[in-house]
Amino acid sequence: MKKIALIGCTGNIGGQVAEIVRAYPEQFCFSALACGKNTAALSALAKEFHPAHVMCEGEVFLADGVKRTHVMSELFGDCDVALIAAGGFAGLAYTLAAIEAGKEIALANKESLVCGGEIVMRRAKEKGVDIVPVDSEHSAIYQALGQRRDAKFARLVLTASGGPFLHKSKEELARVTAQDALRHPTWDMGAKITIDSATLLNKGYEVIEAKWLYGADYSQIDAIVHRESIVHSLVYFEDGAAIAQLGYPDMRIPIQLALTHPNRLPCSRFLKLEEIGALHFEQLPVDKFPCFSLAVEAGKEGGTCPAVLNGAGEEAVRAFLQGSIAFTQIAETIGDVLDALPRQHASCYEQLAEADRRAREAARRILYGK
Ligand code: MG
Repeated sequence: MKKIALIGCTGNIGGQVAEIVRAYPEQFCFSALACGKNTAALSALAKEFHPAHVMCEGEVFLADGVKRTHVMSELFGDCDVALIAAGGFAGLAYTLAAIEAGKEIALANKESLVCGGEIVMRRAKEKGVDIVPVDSEHSAIYQALGQRRDAKFARLVLTASGGPFLHKSKEELARVTAQDALRHPTWDMGAKITIDSATLLNKGYEVIEAKWLYGADYSQIDAIVHRESIVHSLVYFEDGAAIAQLGYPDMRIPIQLALTHPNRLPCSRFLKLEEIGALHFEQLPVDKFPCFSLAVEAGKEGGTCPAVLNGAGEEAVRAFLQGSIAFTQIAETIGDVLDALPRQHASCYEQLAEADRRAREAARRILYGK
């Protein structure tokens, strides 16, 4: 029985983890559940799964034997694996706490590596903690590398669905709404990541994630548009051989693998290539979607830059979802905040948290004039 500490249990990934635990009750249980504010959903999960600990920001109704904690490290005390699926910068503190507790990590929170990649990978190495990716592209690479993160390769190619606006003109992009953006063509995800997918900020994040997970140089990582989301990413080896991982777009596969690797759970639906027909690939239109390059450049700069980029991005996406700014202003806001806040060295979480706070402040000043 594998004991899971699930952080971000009420989000989209969290819901799919709960589905997997329901489907395999003899294999998995929850030792801890944590969420932000959705206490009604957390209460229901606590009553269903009886974790030892729960943690959240509001009032929660607990089942018998379930304890409430405000101490992050307590969440990881008796788990076998910490599945970090919290959204945004908030996920980083949990990832670091799980590493300090010496627990294996199934990582679904991108910001942990985007903002804190250097610190996270260094501490994980020092503590002997393995980090297994849940993000579908990075799981694909992990599988293509034979479920190893230290295998040799020549290039990594991340595939991108391109989001709902891939072929829109710059003028059209200025007029798209949050509702348009939330209609993702292939993946069903939370609101923030769906918008990040539409701006291609998400793909920029995934380049940074790949850099840290696989020790790749930025020059070894490419991203390519693949509308059907069947090829989840590929690895090129020295001799030109390329190995890809294929499957229907279904997050349960990478989630399960991160929990059971190197073993796999049986599946009920094999990919039927004859039903899919042609697979298409095209260049990523980076000029039309400046968020991609902003992210990659911030990743290359390092230090506090990615945390500043992310803090500004979280504020800008919130403003867009509320209808306060145009789609194209998301990238403008991020660019302006990066220009306003100089790069600083960061060697600990506190420095990144301070950069995050200052980036949000600067973004709100630009967005709302306060
Ligand atoms: Mg992804």
